[in-house]
Amino acid sequence: MASSFRGGWNPWHGCTKISPGCLNCYVYRGDRKYERAVPSNQCVKTQSFGLPARKKRTGEWAIPPGSTVYTCFTSDFLLSDADCWRDECWRMMKERQDLFFVFYTKRITRLAGILPPDWGDGYDNVCIGCTVEDNLRAEERLPVFLQLPIKHRQIIIEPMLERMDISEYLTEGIEGVSAGGESGDGARSCDFEWIVFLRDQCREKGIPFFFHQTGANFIKDGVRYSIPRAHQHSQARRANVDYNGKE
Ligand code: SF4
Repeated sequence: MASSFRGGWNPWHGCTKISPGCLNCYVYRGDRKYERAVPSNQCVKTQSFGLPARKKRTGEWAIPPGSTVYTCFTSDFLLSDADCWRDECWRMMKERQDLFFVFYTKRITRLAGILPPDWGDGYDNVCIGCTVEDNLRAEERLPVFLQLPIKHRQIIIEPMLERMDISEYLTEGIEGVSAGGESGDGARSCDFEWIVFLRDQCREKGIPFFFHQTGANFIKDGVRYSIPRAHQHSQARRANVDYNGKE
């Protein structure tokens, strides 16, 4: 979908760490940088909570029709602390069929119990990315993810913490796999060989693969590189390993 909307939609902010991928969480990092008064593990509703339902004085939607809305990237949309607010979010998502909502979660095992009553086999305009960072988390989360009623699904492997074989989970209906390394101080390493191995699994199944970013601590051909934040995406592009799911 074409979009002039540049911001995301963060209905709440703050999250609790749930697995090894959370160790150097970017939300905590950002909060430290901007000296946020509220602790990062405390989830609070934001002023943007009602954004998808909001209109400007002109009567136009605050989020223009046709936008892709990256949702809840300063928390986890399925965080239990937000259970009392989520139904209102589902309602706004349902109302705005002209938008396409995308959220990523490490808590996919909670989804079945907190879906709205009219979810059916999924809302057409919602894409859910199941995030896994190592083989153990893949074994725990992906079988559950594959059984859930979801119209659009992706697998997100970031920060990738080890060489992973997810080939058994690359089944029909997975619309894409995205992978990347870890950013920030103390970032754990990501080896390019892991990325290529993952890309090859996707190519084998005809599923698009996207190398999102190198991370700060990147290994290629046995050589370790410190990559500045500003170059982590462009260096991933230059690696030229993405696969479009067709060839
Ligand atoms: S689930 Fe995501 S937002 Fe929450 S602590 Fe972990 S990395 Fe941070």
